[in-house]
Amino acid sequence: MVQRILQPLEIESTDHVSIARLRLPERSEVFALRAQRLRKLSVDNPLGQAFGPYLALMAGVAEAQHAIAGTLELPMPSDAAIDRAQSHRMPILAAMDEEALAGWQPVAQRLIADLIAHGTLPPDALAALRALTPDTLDEQAQAILGMRDLPVDGMSAPFIMAALQLHRTVLASQLRESQVPTLDVATVCPCCGSLPVASVVRIGGRYQGLRYLQCGLCATEWHMVRVKCSHCESTEGISYHVVEEHHEALKAETCDQCHHYRKIVYMEKDATVEPLADDLASLALDVMMAEAGYGRASGNPLLWLGEGDDERGDEGSDADDADER
Ligand SMILES: [Zn+2]
Ligand SMILES: [Zn+2]
Repeated sequence: MVQRILQPLEIESTDHVSIARLRLPERSEVFALRAQRLRKLSVDNPLGQAFGPYLALMAGVAEAQHAIAGTLELPMPSDAAIDRAQSHRMPILAAMDEEALAGWQPVAQRLIADLIAHGTLPPDALAALRALTPDTLDEQAQAILGMRDLPVDGMSAPFIMAALQLHRTVLASQLRESQVPTLDVATVCPCCGSLPVASVVRIGGRYQGLRYLQCGLCATEWHMVRVKCSHCESTEGISYHVVEEHHEALKAETCDQCHHYRKIVYMEKDATVEPLADDLASLALDVMMAEAGYGRASGNPLLWLGEGDDERGDEGSDADDADER
């Protein structure tokens, strides 16, 4: 009798205990991979050719985020704060917590100065960023995060959001997996409590074939089983939609319980997909889903369509469904 010897990778992927519930961001790669993907989609994108210049602009933003991310050392939450988050099953770096904004301002000033110096911003965006004072920068950040009820300036918002992402992503990258609580609600980020931008089915090692939701703010990814609504957690009435038959690496995952959708990308079809970038580059799929009567579960952090727009999601309204497994 021949006994088959399992390779280490196979053992890992068949051992259910090893399913990684979290994938904390690697600051050395998260913005670099996103920048590369945005750069590629800005020139080669069947789902939104007219959108190319905007994708190129955001590729430049991600490149600037990457250049700074490696140089930052940010103060970590105290052990007491981490213990408190764990005992209450609350996010550690709660996005809407005043304390979480501490140390944010210099990071934002640096990113904005780099973007201005780079010389590739359109005139309107350049003027909006130049007009920001430390006070209005803080006010806009708080408005974007939903901490203050103020009008968001759509022209500067993607860049301010990029600065918030840079700050929170570096903070999240400094955490250890054991420090991050498991929340009662599986549809918000366990690090910062923000909504996911999209989800990704990963390849490789302990992530092989597993689906992760990616936080739109801190880029933390957390595991959610496949064929489940990332908005209301229903496992019934889930369908998948593509714009073109041949574009299998990106789908909209719709739910007939709550009538929302989020996009899902598949690394087994294209290893270079990146949730935020592919979501931003596929407006044709959003148009198709809107026509089919589904609402976006949450907006893309790097796209602000202006005041009164309701794309930022409506978490909380479906809390009754949150216990459904
Ligand atoms: Zn997060
Ligand atoms: Zn749903």
